Amino acid sequence: MKSEILAALREAKEYVSGQELCRHLGVSRTAVWKTIQKLKEEGYRIEAIPNKGYRLADDSDVLNERELACFRKTAWVGETIVYYPVTDSTNIQAKRLAEEGAPHGTLIVAGRQEAGRGRRGRYWESPEKEGIFMTVLLRPDFSPGKASMLTIVAAMAVAKALRTYSDVSAEIKWPNDIVLNGKKICGILTEMDTEIDSINYVVIGIGINVSNQKFGEDAAAVATSIVMESGKRIQRTKLIHAVWEQFEIYYDKFCAAKDLSEIKEEYNGYLVNRNRQVRIIDPKEPFTGVAKGITDTGELMVETEDGIKLVSSGEVSVRGIYGYV
Ligand code: ATP
Repeated sequence: MKSEILAALREAKEYVSGQELCRHLGVSRTAVWKTIQKLKEEGYRIEAIPNKGYRLADDSDVLNERELACFRKTAWVGETIVYYPVTDSTNIQAKRLAEEGAPHGTLIVAGRQEAGRGRRGRYWESPEKEGIFMTVLLRPDFSPGKASMLTIVAAMAVAKALRTYSDVSAEIKWPNDIVLNGKKICGILTEMDTEIDSINYVVIGIGINVSNQKFGEDAAAVATSIVMESGKRIQRTKLIHAVWEQFEIYYDKFCAAKDLSEIKEEYNGYLVNRNRQVRIIDPKEPFTGVAKGITDTGELMVETEDGIKLVSSGEVSVRGIYGYV
């Protein structure tokens, strides 16, 4: 009955009387009232005014399996959606589901992560209700060497979704951090399982800071959220689907070209470090130079006194000369 009441409230957009809901659903007023209370407990903002009825506030930010299914707009990502109110990490769950045979496009979403991780096992802050924590499972049929480019495809999708759906001027710090006003709003962790010449699966985990107001000691200097930068309240479910809608577009371009040539120009336009001095923190050979953009295969081109150097991700980190970007 919850879904029916929600659908009726969504369709009406304005107040719907209790009586109308009873008639529509063929149940008693008490049953309607009880269901409305349960929906409120789940986090839906439902206003009740005597003699007018009930109205669903359009800024309810509820994340659950029902909402994720209701707002899905994608062709193939999320045909299977697995939602965990709490989990260790969506990448860990995605890898487990992959081993169990879950299909291409399976989307794993969590309300909170207890062991969210960035690259090289670094901690990723994942507080309840404040962020988006999700992973897509892919089973591409191209060669393993191409899979690392998918992280750039994902970064492009998140940046574009943030610009179009949340109307914030998201930029990309190569290869796949999304930044807003020079601070990190999203991290992406791509992991894969491969044979010599084929990919078993790739998982792309994405963490987006939505309404965080503060961060712990480790992240405070570099992290920010949509609310902190713009004051905008957004519905996580809608942003999640906006990301995957964009991902499908860029993934198609990537698969057609078999590299990033169809995405490169737009990506370079989003690159926060473009034409700026950067420090390449390479454990073997750190150096500085001016970032010029990416190649068709995703390396960062850095202009140095000795000419253009190509930087591949992996063990390398990029920073601005004076700080994070
Ligand atoms: P890179 O080496 O690619 O530049 P990074 O240092 O930004 O990466 P990641 O592996 O992408 O590291 O992310 C982990 C780091 O991000 C943590 O060490 C912490 O400083 C920071 N961090 C942790 N949680 C968050 C969060 N919710 N938002 C932004 N930054 C975070």
